[in-house]
Amino acid sequence: MVDIPICEEKNDELKDQQLNLLKKTLSSVQDLIVVIDRDLKIVTSNWKNCESIPTNEKQGHPFCYSCLMKQSKPCETCQLLEVFATGTCRKFEIEDPLDNKTKLIELSPVFDDNSNVVMVVRHAKDISERKAVEKVLQMREKQHAAVAKLGQDGLAGVELETLIQESVKLVASTLDVEYCRIMKYEDSEPVMVAGVGWEEKSDNKPENKKNEIVCYTLYSHESAMVHEKNTNERFSGLSLLNDHGIISGMDVIIGNKDKPFGVMNVHTTQKRVFTNDDMHFVQSMANVIAEALGRKQAEEKLQKYTKELEDANYLKVLFTDVLTHDLLNPANIIRGFTEELTTIEEEENKKKLLNKIHKNNEKMIYMIESASKFIKLESINDIRFEKQDFVPILEKVIINTGHEMGKKYIKLYFNPTKNYPSLINPLIEEVFLNLLSNAIKYSPQEGKIVINILDIGDKWKIHIADMGPGISNEDKTMIFERFKQVDKGSIKGSGLGLAIVKRIVELHGGEVGVDNNTDGKGSIFWFTLKKAF
Ligand code: ADP
Repeated sequence: MVDIPICEEKNDELKDQQLNLLKKTLSSVQDLIVVIDRDLKIVTSNWKNCESIPTNEKQGHPFCYSCLMKQSKPCETCQLLEVFATGTCRKFEIEDPLDNKTKLIELSPVFDDNSNVVMVVRHAKDISERKAVEKVLQMREKQHAAVAKLGQDGLAGVELETLIQESVKLVASTLDVEYCRIMKYEDSEPVMVAGVGWEEKSDNKPENKKNEIVCYTLYSHESAMVHEKNTNERFSGLSLLNDHGIISGMDVIIGNKDKPFGVMNVHTTQKRVFTNDDMHFVQSMANVIAEALGRKQAEEKLQKYTKELEDANYLKVLFTDVLTHDLLNPANIIRGFTEELTTIEEEENKKKLLNKIHKNNEKMIYMIESASKFIKLESINDIRFEKQDFVPILEKVIINTGHEMGKKYIKLYFNPTKNYPSLINPLIEEVFLNLLSNAIKYSPQEGKIVINILDIGDKWKIHIADMGPGISNEDKTMIFERFKQVDKGSIKGSGLGLAIVKRIVELHGGEVGVDNNTDGKGSIFWFTLKKAF
């Protein structure tokens, strides 16, 4: 378009024709195009037709390039002289004084036949829209970086206080505002916990106590969450903001909307349209704080819970000590004296009373021992296992309970046919003892107890069947809970035996249960043990 030779030799008519053609061509272009000669005078331009120039400017603006150049920032003169001197193009951006828009200026030389630069074509393209988009993108990038930074610090476990202080600084610098603060609701009164631009220690609560929310987004085109407000209406009564010359602002809630921790305010003395993106940015920052707050609260809860557990544990240990020392010792002394008295006492009635004392004292000793055993087992989480055949342990228990069985003429059937290697801890003896003692205790006179071992894949299942009263379906799960006893008439126990069994079996990674004895009445107590390979 600009490469139209203007030759001195051509006659004037031809020259005029060429100039007219040039003018026509230029006038069809929307960007401002100016042709400048070596005296820096405008030869021609599409000035009048260019829509980007305001009409009033078109009327009165001097048709002189040097004026235009002087007003532009930066000054173009040097660039233009360079193009005349070197014959090379120049490209640069200016803030155009004509319409205050950002323009991309391209200066291109026009040569005569002797390759001398006779004119320069100045092409001014309005790039303000592109610049605005670029600015928004840069802002978004800055905002994302700020959220990422705060988020990372939050995850890295930076102290909440530090994080809060950091957040207001990051928001203020990213949004380029003078004021940012976090107001915490304390008894529904907002109290500043961190602020940029506000004097930290001043009584910076807003003065209108009725309207407790500090401020809104005042200017925005977009979402419903961003309120556009009339400045005067908004600030009437909020003298604190007025005192600081604040005219724009926004706030977002920190934490749960129903029970917020507080708000994050952004304020500026500039008339500023905060967009939804700006608001989402501040909300994201507030969310990082809310997240950190949540974590801190959870940590505090956990600490409290741990403390409670420690206290409970302490009480448990104390209780066990009281049981084993302060209760068991006197009970053992009573045992000794009653046994001695029974041997020297001759009167039948007194002997009977002494027997009662002795029996009940024995029961008490059994209960104390069971309770302290159970408490100890409850606080154990890990036990060591040995690869061992459990049958010898079971046989030892059978021998030890033989006397009790004999008293009731009970017959025991147990015929192990092979080795039963399993992963066990010596505690397992307690399981055999409790289950077999119960079977004996609840068996009728001349009853039958059958012990069976089943191979169920990677485990052994040990059955102890008796012919006692059996357990009703509703009691079947209950009896394994501590202190749960089913009414068994005169038979009394501690209600802890099966809870101890369950705990030990669980520590072995096995299961425990009770079924009806299909061989007549009675029950089958069973448990599983891991095989050792
Ligand atoms: P206890 O010391 O009272 O026997 P356990 O925890 O050993 O406590 O047993 C809980 C309850 O389970 C007992 O009170 C009893 O009612 C019932 N029970 C346990 N073993 C048997 C069994 N072999 N036959 C019938 N009932 C049983």
